[in-house]
Order: sequence, then structure tokens, then C-alpha cells
Amino acid sequence: MNFDIQKIRADFPILQKKIYGKPLIYLDNAATTQKPACVVDKICENYYNNNANIHRGVHFLSQIATEAHEAARETIRAFIGANSANEVVFTRGSTEAINLVASSFGRSQCKDGDEIILSQMEHHSNIVPWQLLQSERDIRIKVIPINSKGELMLDELDRLFTEKTKLVSVTHVSNALGTVNPVKEIIRRAHERDVPVLIDGAQSAPHFRINMQELDADFYVFSGHKIYGPTGIGVLYGKEKWLDKIPPYQGGGEMIKRVTFEKTTFNDLPFKFEAGTPDYIGSTALAEALNYMQHIGMDAVEAHEQKLLQYATSKLKEVEGIRFIGEAEKKSGLISFLVGNIHPYDLGSILDKLGIAVRTGHHCADPVMQAFGIEGTVRASFGIYNTEEEIDILLAGILRAQKMFNRSL
Ligand code: PMP
Repeated sequence: MNFDIQKIRADFPILQKKIYGKPLIYLDNAATTQKPACVVDKICENYYNNNANIHRGVHFLSQIATEAHEAARETIRAFIGANSANEVVFTRGSTEAINLVASSFGRSQCKDGDEIILSQMEHHSNIVPWQLLQSERDIRIKVIPINSKGELMLDELDRLFTEKTKLVSVTHVSNALGTVNPVKEIIRRAHERDVPVLIDGAQSAPHFRINMQELDADFYVFSGHKIYGPTGIGVLYGKEKWLDKIPPYQGGGEMIKRVTFEKTTFNDLPFKFEAGTPDYIGSTALAEALNYMQHIGMDAVEAHEQKLLQYATSKLKEVEGIRFIGEAEKKSGLISFLVGNIHPYDLGSILDKLGIAVRTGHHCADPVMQAFGIEGTVRASFGIYNTEEEIDILLAGILRAQKMFNRSL
């Protein structure tokens, strides 16, 4: 373990920034994380020294860039414990990865009348791609409900399976509630019925150790920018047997072996799914971010964020009229809440003036809000550089806002 919070904070130049003259308290990590200098430096270094289009070139720079891109794929393979680098497909992020599966798996494996199981706590990016598929296939979307604590009702899952179930697609961790779902158990139950499972790991990969051999997911997606890497790059992990079976998502360069106007043959895995010039700068910067996380140690990251979660939960309980949305037994470092009748946007705006960045609204998870009968929440989400002192400042900010609102009533 190498967890030295002051050293970690020093790695993130943006944390020195003042917002309205106040130190930045960045608690919007579920939306995106800040970047350590090594990641930003890697981007600059590559553009300054190693920039050339990859895979096709015989020249020196192209070979260097190709090697770096494929080495990054290997770093990602090791980070998620995949069997082979062929199972690691670069995408623009979780959203594109889910769209890829909905399109390629959906169109090739689902016929009219088939069923997909999602959950009530999905991000819109794991709902809408399946609805788009519905415009081409008459598939039925079934939903695992949640209880009042914001946990999946697993007993209901068993009732949702039929012979027509083609896929279960659920989030590992809810971005709106913080709930950590028992995905291993979900995968076990689905596999008992020969149903493959997609896990949306956008909110799990950055916060605890994940391993594809242990998880046994058929597909797993995550986004670079939520794990201290750059924007615009993400990963689709897919078991080789599935990636071999399903057709390409987009057509173009890179994903082909040979093209004639009569017939085109597709490239091998994983290139079959990577049409066009890949983001070889993003991939190497993402690998840098993963190396940075590995150096800290994912178990240490999890322990730190769990400590923050417990501290914040007990501190925020001091606020009169606070309502926590999402009180699952197993949560990641994220708190969604409402305070009395204060609109989340108003509370968020006052906190902003104090230099505190939180997110307000439905968090792209409208069905969660519908389940709780609310419009939105205030969400504080923690990352590796957050501290208990910052949570004290958040608490003071909430109390101050509450006073202002009570006075104006
Ligand atoms: N799934 C979950 C659970 C998320 O939190 C997010 C991002 N908020 C996404 C998917 C989509 O990620 P991206 O926008 O990086 O594609």
C-alpha cells in the first residue's frame, strides 16, 4: 500500500485552483475525475514526440506509436484481468461500448419477441441503446426493481427470466445511489440459464479491484475519464467467444482485412470493432492513469473512499431534515441527498459559490428518481484525493445554505 493523501493531492495540479477565491473542493468524481500530472504529461509527450497514425506505417514514428497503443491495451488487459488483449476493445467511453453491444449483439442475437433484462437503477446509457434496438427488433425490456434503500430486488430477477431472455445488462455501481450491486450473483444466476451478462463498470472500475476471471461477465464496460484518465476513450471488454460471434459495429479503415466492391473481409479481434484511426494518444494516457492507480493500489483506494463514505454519512446526518437517497448495505463513495424543501439546484449553486463542486439533478438516471418520487438530488461523490476536512467544509456549506433558506422563508 502506498496511500499518502498529501502526495496524491500534489499529483493533481487542479486541486491548487481557487474557485471564487476559495480552495476547490471537488466532489463531482462520479461525473468525471481530475487528472494527475503524469496523465496530462503523457498526452503532451506523445503529441510532442511520438505522434503518427498507427498500425499502417512502416516508418519509425508510426511503429513507436503502434507499440505504445498496443502496450496500453496490454496494461488494460492486466488491470481488468482479461484472458487476452483480443478481449479489450477501445471505444469512446462506456456509452459507446454499450451502444456497440446493443447494436452488434442485439441485431445478431435478438429476434422479435426476445427479452433483455435491465434494472431500475441504470444510467440512461444502459437504457436508451436498448430502446433504439427496439426500433428494429420487437424486443421486450424487463426491469429488476429496487427497494426503498435503493438495492436491487434480486428475488424479482428470478421471475424475470424466460426462455426468451437474451441478455442481462446491469450496472455494477449506481451513479445516482452509490449502491454496489451483487453482480457476481446476478451473473451466476444468468449463466445457470445460459444467459450472457453485460456489466456497466463506469462507476466500479475507478473505485475497487475488478477481475474478469472472478466476475465472469460476458461484457464489461468502463470510461477512461472516470478513472483519472482522459476524456474520449473507454473500454469494452468482451469474452472472445462473444466478440468472435457478433458482427462489427462500424465500418471503415482498421477493421477490415481486404475490401473489394463485391466483398469485404473483416479484421481479427479486437480490430474488427475499431473502425477508423484509434485514439492512440488517449489509450496511452489511459494506461498511464491505470498504472498510477495500480501504484497506489486499488485496495487502498477502496479503503480510503469507504472511510470517506462512512465519515460523510455520519457527519451529514447532523443536518436537520436531510434525506439520503440510497442507503444500501453496500455502497461506494457517493452520497445522494435532499435537504428539507431546498431545491437541489439551489443548494448546489450555493455550494458552488463556496468552491464546492457537487452535482445536482437526475444524474442521467431518471427511472431512479421516478422510483423515489423525486425530481433530483444533490450528489457528492468521492475520489482518491478527497479528505475528511473537505467533508467538514461540505457540511458547513450545507448548514450555511440551510440557514439562508430558513431566513428567506
Ligand atoms: N454508466 C454509468 C453508471 C455512469 O455513471 C456513466 C457516466 N455518468 C455512464 C454509464 C456513461 O459514461 P460515459 O458518459 O463516460 O460514456
